[in-house]
Amino acid sequence: MENSIALRDISLTYQTKEGEVEALRKVSFHVAKGEFVALVGPSGCGKSTLLSVIAGLEQPDGGTVTVCGEMVAGPSRRVGFMPQQDQLFSWRTIRDNVLLGLQIRREVDEEHLRHVDGLLARYGLADFAKMRPQQLSGGMRQRCALIRTLATDPDILLLDEPFSALDYQTRLTVSGDIWRIIRSEGKTALLVTHDISEAVSMADRVVVLSRRPATVKKVFDMGQLRQLTPLQRRESPLFSGFFDSIWKELELT
Ligand code: ADP
Ligand code: MG
Repeated sequence: MENSIALRDISLTYQTKEGEVEALRKVSFHVAKGEFVALVGPSGCGKSTLLSVIAGLEQPDGGTVTVCGEMVAGPSRRVGFMPQQDQLFSWRTIRDNVLLGLQIRREVDEEHLRHVDGLLARYGLADFAKMRPQQLSGGMRQRCALIRTLATDPDILLLDEPFSALDYQTRLTVSGDIWRIIRSEGKTALLVTHDISEAVSMADRVVVLSRRPATVKKVFDMGQLRQLTPLQRRESPLFSGFFDSIWKELELT
């Protein structure tokens, strides 16, 4: 299958005043087109650094990274980024927040407006378009942040712990919502999380990273769970098996 993201022997060491911080050591993995991959690893191991490399924001010291078959040389419009905090502006309406990326690119035309209004309608935010972010629940704000990322129509979504600011119950619903949106929009996704159950409930494959410097310890294929929604997976008898295997792999790091 065609790869959307391919990393080969990626290494990166930060130079700081206090000395060198080796963040990544020969990291190799791929994400196939349309696939949903989760990256799990201990806090501080280099997960965000990896996303920055894929987004073209950090240059690795060694190795190669390709996105949609092309070598990454800088930020690409094919890659959309969804941050940890929703970063919605309180003084803008929901619709104007969603349009922000397009405005920055000076691409607010009729076609894009139709696309954005379609997304707002499909994912239950049309009635809230004129409201401000503070009038929305945390879960709806995350949905809004995802739609803003989708507005510029990237092929690939990078999600850096997007649910960590939400309480447990909200996380369950929102992760289901986000999963459904990514699926139905046919996007390739790479999700960073330190929550194993989130990874097992959303991903097709889970890449387990070691402690810093990050290396790939093991890749788990979710097999039969792939066909199920996040909620169905959590109720599946297979769920705990995957959870335990990944947990053990992480504990050994
Ligand atoms: P994670 O996202 O897995 O928590 P990060 O990729 O953010 O980890 O960070 C990996 C390591 O690199 C950490 O030790 C962090 O302190 C360090 N680091 C991250 N960004 C920088 C930077 N810009 N300069 C120096 N060190 C950094
Ligand atoms: Mg991080």
